Formats: sequence, C-alpha cells, structure tokens
Amino acid sequence: MGQERSTTNVPRFTPEELAKLNESMRGEKPENILAWGIKTFPGKLMMATAFGVEGCCIIHMIAQIDKRVRIINLETGYQFKETLLVREQIKERYGIEVEYIYPEKTVTEYEKEHGGPLYDIRPDQCCYDRKILPLRKAVLGYEAWISAIRRDQTDVRKSAEAISWDTKFQLVKINPLLDWTIKDVWSYVMKNQIPYNKLHDLGYPSIGCEPCTRAVQDGEDERSGRWSGKTKKECGLHVVEHEQGSGI
Ligand code: SF4
Repeated sequence: MGQERSTTNVPRFTPEELAKLNESMRGEKPENILAWGIKTFPGKLMMATAFGVEGCCIIHMIAQIDKRVRIINLETGYQFKETLLVREQIKERYGIEVEYIYPEKTVTEYEKEHGGPLYDIRPDQCCYDRKILPLRKAVLGYEAWISAIRRDQTDVRKSAEAISWDTKFQLVKINPLLDWTIKDVWSYVMKNQIPYNKLHDLGYPSIGCEPCTRAVQDGEDERSGRWSGKTKKECGLHVVEHEQGSGI
C-alpha cells in the first residue's frame, strides 16, 4: 500500500544480543531503560507520542535525563482539542516543544479527494495515510524510537520486550513502561504532577483521533473505546512482528 520507506538502517543487535539485553533489563526502572537508550543512540533516538498518560510519563522522564531527544506528534487533523492542549502544557512545564508531523494533505483536501472521511469506511487506509506514512518520513535518519506501550494493554502487546527490532520502521524500539500497570502510571503522574489529557478524567483511558475514540464504561477493556465496533484495534504503529499486516 502506497510509498515504502527506503532505508540503510540494519538491525543493530543480533537476536541473541537482544535476548541478552532484555534479560539484563528485566526489572529495571523505566528511567534506566530510557537512559540506556539515550546513551546508546545519541542524537538518533526519537519518540512519537499521542499525549496519552503513559507518553506524558515518559516525557517527564526524558525532561530529567536529556531534553534533546526529538519528540513528535502525528497531527492527523482529527485529534481532540484537549490532546493538543497537552502539547502546550508540556511546553510550559518542561520547555519541550513537541514537534507536529503532518500528513501530506489537510483534512479538507483529504476528504475532498475521497468524497468524505475514510475513518468510518476505511480506517486502516486513513491511519496509513495520516499516521504511518508521515511517521516513516519522520524517522528517516534515526536509529531508535521510544514507545509508551504497556504489556497488559492488549493481547498483541503481551509479547513485547523492553528492547526489540522494529521491522516495520527499521528502528530499535525501546519500551520503558512495558511492566507498568495503569495504577503505576497514575501514581507516577500524581506524585510528579505531570500534565495529562483531561479526557482521561472523563472516561477515556486510551485516546486517539476524535472520530475513532469513545469513552468506555466501567468494566470495559481500556482500549475498547478505540475504533469501537470495528475489528481494528491498533493504528499499526505498535504492532509486533507476528501481527504485522493486520495492523494497518
Ligand atoms: S485514528 Fe481514525 S481519524 Fe485517526 S488516522 Fe486513524 S482512522 Fe483516521
């Protein structure tokens, strides 16, 4: 589908080295995993955030370690205004200006081209055009990226490791919060007074684009409000290798 990324990146670790590395990372604090990434990939490490509460925790940690890590947000044009506000709060609190990465076409141009929005009828295509392709361009020249996924979020994420090779984006992927529960996340936020998306207080545990996110009821899975009523569960950014192809 569409344009593929050309890259000269090669896996930096053999599978055996990765296994050893992950063994040595077991039980490590997220700050230490992040610090390892920052030290190992100077100037070549980046993070993409949708300003979810986990991402805000990582930004807080990055601010204590090295503010030069490039942090981007995929501004699809469909994000909640509450989400965009978090970017401003982060700038004010940490002096970190999260960089917006835009798709090739504005929402108006895109919907005109397709005779209306695609998020209801072809959400995979919409995510591909408005998230995956812009991200592929943004990661060019980088060697590693940080994600804020937690192992207990979805079945797909259960098999993730702290450090892995991301074949889709040709980057080393660093997942510092894998072992945290949502309770760990919120206690860290409260303890450190970290800015977060106020939609989390209104029943939105996981927040993506506005047309594809709803509040969840008590007892529902925390990601059940994403692409509700559709088989789609991931935008394709954090799908592990054996699931690739189903994510975007
Ligand atoms: S989450 Fe929805 S609106 Fe956002 S890019 Fe994907 S399909 Fe489009």
